[in-house]
Amino acid sequence: MKSVTNERIPWNQYFMAQSVLLSLRSTCARLSVGATIVRDKRIIAGGYNGSVSGDVHCIDEGCYIVDGHCVRTIHAEMNAILQCAKFGIPTEGAEIYVTHFPCLQCTKMLLQAGIKKIHYLTDYRNDEYALKLIQTVGATVDQVKLSKKYFSELNLGEEDYIR
Ligand SMILES: [Zn+2]
Ligand SMILES: [Zn+2]
Repeated sequence: MKSVTNERIPWNQYFMAQSVLLSLRSTCARLSVGATIVRDKRIIAGGYNGSVSGDVHCIDEGCYIVDGHCVRTIHAEMNAILQCAKFGIPTEGAEIYVTHFPCLQCTKMLLQAGIKKIHYLTDYRNDEYALKLIQTVGATVDQVKLSKKYFSELNLGEEDYIR
């Protein structure tokens, strides 16, 4: 692959791009969210919003709406944490990269799981209490911006490995 520049992609954009990729696996038509959990600059888990394994998918059967929310799906952040729970991976002191600002329930869960840094790509109903909680417990939240230059270099459509 030809590289236009010798400059390497910053870690925060690299991890966020993983979350964007994961969001493409979402099974809910309402919103596609991806989440990547990182510890010591290593990806330890990933998730996207989708049904409980074995249940039907929103994209096949339509969403299951109660009080204006789709209740079928597990949020991306929770799926990533649950992957750690399932395989016994510690989350204490880890960071998470999420494509959308996490909801209040996910924020509480992430903080309780020991996540110390929350990075998000796009604002999404940013919850005031969630923001306050993040500060209260001494965690941090920041918005990551993706620079076109790194991703245009991928030239995905022009290489032999794309079919
Ligand atoms: Zn749905
Ligand atoms: Zn959530």
